[in-house]
Amino acid sequence: MSASFVPERWIPGERLTGAPVVPRPGPDAPVVGVLSLQGDVIEHLRVLRRVGAHAVQVKSAPQLEGVDALVLPGGESTTIGKLLVRFDLLSPLQARIADGLPVLGTCAGMILLSDELDQVEEQPLVGGLRVRTRRNAFGRQQDSFDARIEVMGIDGGPMDVAFIRAPRVVAVLDPTVEVLARVEDAPVVVRQGAIWATAFHPEVTGDDRLHAAFVATVPPR
Ligand code: GLN
Repeated sequence: MSASFVPERWIPGERLTGAPVVPRPGPDAPVVGVLSLQGDVIEHLRVLRRVGAHAVQVKSAPQLEGVDALVLPGGESTTIGKLLVRFDLLSPLQARIADGLPVLGTCAGMILLSDELDQVEEQPLVGGLRVRTRRNAFGRQQDSFDARIEVMGIDGGPMDVAFIRAPRVVAVLDPTVEVLARVEDAPVVVRQGAIWATAFHPEVTGDDRLHAAFVATVPPR
């Protein structure tokens, strides 16, 4: 395994925060990557480990080839998009998604997966998800909020999630896009086959159910 993969026993920061070290994933656990160019990578790695996946960082095309699924984290979509271009990852990622790679985009990740943005300025997008999305649609950083929302297909009551300078889907462009949750009438969880996207951050509130549902759909190795 390449040296830049996350070490087996711990995730960076765990030893500093005292977060519990979760058991090693089993040999059949899916390898789920987290795109690690910018954003809240470690939080996703931790949740993925907690739900039994083998979680690894993805910063290069060879690393992308080694994963069974990929999370695109929250962060700054313009920065992540530019880095995807600079690290020669944009086309390989588009090709794998077209090939059916399960992907989960959260917040900036949702923006990157969108086929269209509701803005004039251009920015690099991965695309694949047939929606039009508006960035920062719930207001500025200081308007960020936590919420409890019902998500279709997630059992056990409403999910605890965080909206941080969150985007909003303003148009669903294809009937294959399922809307699994809404806030103020706007879709905030959408799924189009193997492509999942959330406007919020499910990885910072300790509610692991959406990641578990996503990982459960990853075909066995
Ligand atoms: N507003 C950010 C963007 O446009 C996304 C914020 C987030 O991921 N929390 O990329």
